[in-house]
Amino acid sequence: MKIYNTLSGRKEEFVPIEEGKVRMYVCGPTVYNLIHIGNARPMIVFDTVRRYMEHKGYQVNYVSNFTDVDDKIIKRALEEGVDSSVISERYIDECKKDMQMMNVRPATTHPKATEEIGGMIDMIKTLIDKGYAYAAADGTVYFRTRKFKGYGKLSHKNIDDLQGGMRALLVSGEDQKEDPLDFVLWKPKKEGEPFWESPWCDGRPGWHIECSVMSKKYLGDEIDIHAGGEDLVFPHHENEIAQSEAANGKQFSRYWMHNAFLNIDNKKMSKSLGNFKTVRDISENYDLQVLRFFMLSAHYRSPLNFSADLMEAAKNSLDRIVTCASNLKYGIDHVQAENATEAEQQLLQEAEKFTEQFDAAMDDDFNTADAITAIFDLVKFINTNTNEESSRAFLTGLRDQLVMLSDICGLIVEKEEESLDAQVEALIEERQSARKNKDFARADEIRDQLTQMGIVLEDTREGVKWHRQ
Ligand code: AMP
Ligand code: ZN
Repeated sequence: MKIYNTLSGRKEEFVPIEEGKVRMYVCGPTVYNLIHIGNARPMIVFDTVRRYMEHKGYQVNYVSNFTDVDDKIIKRALEEGVDSSVISERYIDECKKDMQMMNVRPATTHPKATEEIGGMIDMIKTLIDKGYAYAAADGTVYFRTRKFKGYGKLSHKNIDDLQGGMRALLVSGEDQKEDPLDFVLWKPKKEGEPFWESPWCDGRPGWHIECSVMSKKYLGDEIDIHAGGEDLVFPHHENEIAQSEAANGKQFSRYWMHNAFLNIDNKKMSKSLGNFKTVRDISENYDLQVLRFFMLSAHYRSPLNFSADLMEAAKNSLDRIVTCASNLKYGIDHVQAENATEAEQQLLQEAEKFTEQFDAAMDDDFNTADAITAIFDLVKFINTNTNEESSRAFLTGLRDQLVMLSDICGLIVEKEEESLDAQVEALIEERQSARKNKDFARADEIRDQLTQMGIVLEDTREGVKWHRQ
């Protein structure tokens, strides 16, 4: 299995630190809003990496954080007149709903920055003790960037070239830095903001320190894979490497994976352009399996353009796989012949080549675009070689293969009932919170919608139960 490593700038054979195990950290979203379709790209891509590694027999410890202390969260909390934890908890819940709809599995651990402040203070203390950090007069703690010899190795930047750019970035209050390249580890509180006590001042952590600390706590000093979108290479991941390697004295992550950006109608997605789309927006018109399929139809390191036409095309393509799976299921339930003929056994053997084609694509730096082509080749093979005379064993063999390959991509091509269940449960949850917020009109509307779907609700002491009519 080869992985393109941003650190070396080339594809490398994957060799885990511990045989059979993978320690993987993926930088998660800042939770101040519903996630947008750009945020969905790393979630889907790295969930697929995890699924493929598990398929290959690795045990994957997958950690992905929620950044729940940040300027944008605080701003939103001030606007709504609530505590910033109200905002972050709300959008963590919403993010988890989106993940479920996209069939992105929950991480092994989803740490939150606000619950790891003690560990951050400890790591900052270590950095100060080792001479890699210093506290300024106002209590701000900075990382002494030039002291870390490897700085720039991930983004392939020369530290002296960075200097000029950094000087332009100097903002007020940063004049206490020894060097414009130094970055913040801890900063003093401002009026109305959440803060924690520390040896330097009441305040809050800088952004980069959280990932170094959570990665160490849940995965250890050395990990196999660290991942995120390409915008994180500099400065976020560069700074994480500096902090972790300076504090722990070991190589932080062996492989660094970065997904390219998702654009919309060939433009950057941004609030000011008004072309900003949330995952929830897409869910109004599409099953989010379609969004997942769309994301995987390109290689993760290629920029991907989102448009209404491309989503329609993705829907039609995915439908071809789903139709094939449902035809197989119909056949399995209805055909007469039980056992595979000799010719069918040979065909089943021949069909193995599609699994090999799929694996070869995924082994080549997770080329999901080619892996999906292998699934379509299998669909074509199934459509050509099956008919009413096929045996149950033959159809079952092909179905299992099709479902297995789709499942590695996280594409649900068969379990209609289950995905419907998830939709029902999401609606029930939304109705509960509407009732809590005294939005009874919305609550009634959802009940009507559920009734139309043939779902009967029952309020019990243990909460709301439901069954099909
Ligand atoms: P943020 O909440 O901005 O920290 O982003 C969470 C994750 O989404 C990070 O891994 C980002 O790199 C990634 N991300 C943000 N915008 C995009 C985009 N337009 N395309 C792909 N990935 C993105
Ligand atoms: Zn991070």
